[in-house]
Amino acid sequence: MKKLAILGSTGSIGQSTLSIVEQFPERYSVTALAAGRNVNEAFAQAVRWRPAIVSMATEELAGELGLRLRQAGVSATEVVCDTAGTVACATHPDADFVVSAIVGVAGLEATHAAILAGKPVGLANKECMVAAGEILTAAARLHKVPILPIDSEHNAVHQCLRVGTHAEVKTIWLTASGGPFRTTPLDEFASITPEQALKHPTWVMGRRITIDSATMLNKGLEIIEACRLFDVSPAQVRVTVHPQSTVHSLVEYVDGSILAQISVTDMRLPILYALAFPERPASTLTFDLAALRHLEFEEPDFARFPCLRLAFEAAEKGGAHCIALNAADEVAVEAFLDRRLPFMGIPRTIEKVLASTPEAHPSTIAEVLAADRAARQTAHEFLA
Ligand code: MG
Repeated sequence: MKKLAILGSTGSIGQSTLSIVEQFPERYSVTALAAGRNVNEAFAQAVRWRPAIVSMATEELAGELGLRLRQAGVSATEVVCDTAGTVACATHPDADFVVSAIVGVAGLEATHAAILAGKPVGLANKECMVAAGEILTAAARLHKVPILPIDSEHNAVHQCLRVGTHAEVKTIWLTASGGPFRTTPLDEFASITPEQALKHPTWVMGRRITIDSATMLNKGLEIIEACRLFDVSPAQVRVTVHPQSTVHSLVEYVDGSILAQISVTDMRLPILYALAFPERPASTLTFDLAALRHLEFEEPDFARFPCLRLAFEAAEKGGAHCIALNAADEVAVEAFLDRRLPFMGIPRTIEKVLASTPEAHPSTIAEVLAADRAARQTAHEFLA
């Protein structure tokens, strides 16, 4: 029985993880839930799963949850809050496996703490890898802790890498759906609204990642994530636009063989893979081969998606530039969703912030968070 700590339990990956636990009660149970701000959902989850510990974003929310749990007769669950609470969930002595699915750098300290505590991590939070990938992978090597990617592309790459050696890998090909604006005329980009951008053609996801898919900044973050997770250079990572989203990514080997991973577009599959690795439990997530009749792959259009170029540039520089890429985007996406910034203002904001970011390579989580705050500050100043 694997006992799980789920960081970001009320988000879309957290809920999918719990549905896997529901399907495999003989394999998985829930020990810790870090829930954030959604008290109603956290309450329902705590009543259903009876974890040892639940964390909320603030003391007030933790107080509210604690009261409701006591009224419902759930007294064995400890309720904690804030970053310290998330860290307590990630390092709980009973947890055997940590699912890191808090969006943004908010999940960084807890993910790092989980690795230091020797817990295997299923990583859905790509911002952690982008902002602090060198620190996290070094800690994972030192503590002999596996980091198993839940991001669908990296999960596909992880699967394809099992058939060859690191030295035999020529190129990692990340597939991208191209988002909702793949074929939109460029002169219409200025008037793109949040409603249009929030409609993703193939995946149902959280708000920020959906906007990041529309600008392709998401794929940019994934380039950096791939470099860190698989120890390859940015020159070894390429992006191919594949609108059907059935090939989740590919690995090209030096002999010319290309391996692809194909499955339904359902996050439960990469989650199950990460939880069960190196086993493969039987699941109901089958894929209809007839859907492969139509497969397209095309070069990404860097003029349409400047975020992709900015990400490759940041990947080459590494360190503070990768942190700034992520931080500036988060601030810009928020402004776009609030209608304070046009769609193409997102790459413009990122470009401005990157241009004023010093070349630096933070070596501690505290330095990473400081660089993140500095980049956000610059982004806010630019937007004002
Ligand atoms: Mg992805």
